[in-house]
Amino acid sequence: MITVSRMMTEDQFKQNTGGSTLRGRSEITNVDAALRAFYALPDGGQGARLLALKDIVRACSDYVAHKGAGGSRVRGTQRLGEQAVAAQGQLDPEAVFRDLLTEIDRVMGEGKNPDIDRRAPASEAQKAAQAIPADKFHAMMVDFVQKLGALREDGTLPEETHAVIGELMAVVPLVTVMQYPRGGRGGVKLDPAAAGDDPTFTFNVDTQARGGTSFLLGHIAHELTHVAAHQAFGSSPVMELVQSGATDAEVAALAAERRQALADLQGALATDTEFDEFQRGMLEEKLGYGAQPYKLEQYATAFEKAGKITAEQKERLVGWGTAAGEASGTLVEYDTVLNQMLIYLHMWQTSQDNPFYVRLRAAARAAYDRRSSARRSAGPSTDQPS
Ligand SMILES: [Zn+2]
Repeated sequence: MITVSRMMTEDQFKQNTGGSTLRGRSEITNVDAALRAFYALPDGGQGARLLALKDIVRACSDYVAHKGAGGSRVRGTQRLGEQAVAAQGQLDPEAVFRDLLTEIDRVMGEGKNPDIDRRAPASEAQKAAQAIPADKFHAMMVDFVQKLGALREDGTLPEETHAVIGELMAVVPLVTVMQYPRGGRGGVKLDPAAAGDDPTFTFNVDTQARGGTSFLLGHIAHELTHVAAHQAFGSSPVMELVQSGATDAEVAALAAERRQALADLQGALATDTEFDEFQRGMLEEKLGYGAQPYKLEQYATAFEKAGKITAEQKERLVGWGTAAGEASGTLVEYDTVLNQMLIYLHMWQTSQDNPFYVRLRAAARAAYDRRSSARRSAGPSTDQPS
């Protein structure tokens, strides 16, 4: 049992706020109820404790706002609110983060939409993650990466997903830092000092895990796919999903094929009856993210401005983006979103004969094969042409 020092019990609170008489119709019973719910929680579960403490704080401030200044009830309620805030500070942020993911998993398991959970567990998880010390954060992410790897022990995992996870685990040693994003956006970045023969990457983790554990493992799969593809294709620091040395015509055909595959997936999603509202939204988001126009051109321009690629590299990338037309985004995000969705669907236990799932596995397999053959054609040398 985690002791919450200095926070009054329900009985003590009642004594401090005028006792039980004339309480029944007062809004103060909302505070009583929130306090009772907190003390009724089972042991452990620091995420649930955090959410219950926030409920207490909210009930206290609602009551005080309603009553205005003065009175022993208001003073006692203010004191309880302060104690509940202090109790939040006693929780271990890593335990809170992990438990909130489990809590979101539970909500999703009941078929509910975690995006409309009034308690905002995903944003609370993000706040908790920010408070985890850097070394502990990295170690926690090592553990989640291992969880992704361990999905291969699940006999129901489709072989395509099994192969992809194996490929992703092989590049894990290249990701030397996994951290709460420090001033930048989420995602992996090639470390500038290590851009040559010995590349290493920094992973800025998106900890606002809206879909719980499946969201986080899908995010990890997405980012590790960037690393695996960068290695397979010999990409620039922009991490374009194009094999080094490709011609504009090859890139145009590649982008058209990817765009068609995403459109087919959109079509399968439109007629699907299995996904719930939240799942459908997540998949739509990923399909859209994989197909944004001008994306490679924008990245190329930004990277050149920042001195991360040469003017020559930028020209090359802009040429490819132009060749891809509307499907420029598939040259930056495609393999990534496919693998991310593979993880989602496995963890959501989507039927394997679901038409969307069938198409997704085929598309992910084709992308996997393309990376594999690029790796082979690069030969035994790992030299990366600029
Ligand atoms: Zn990405």
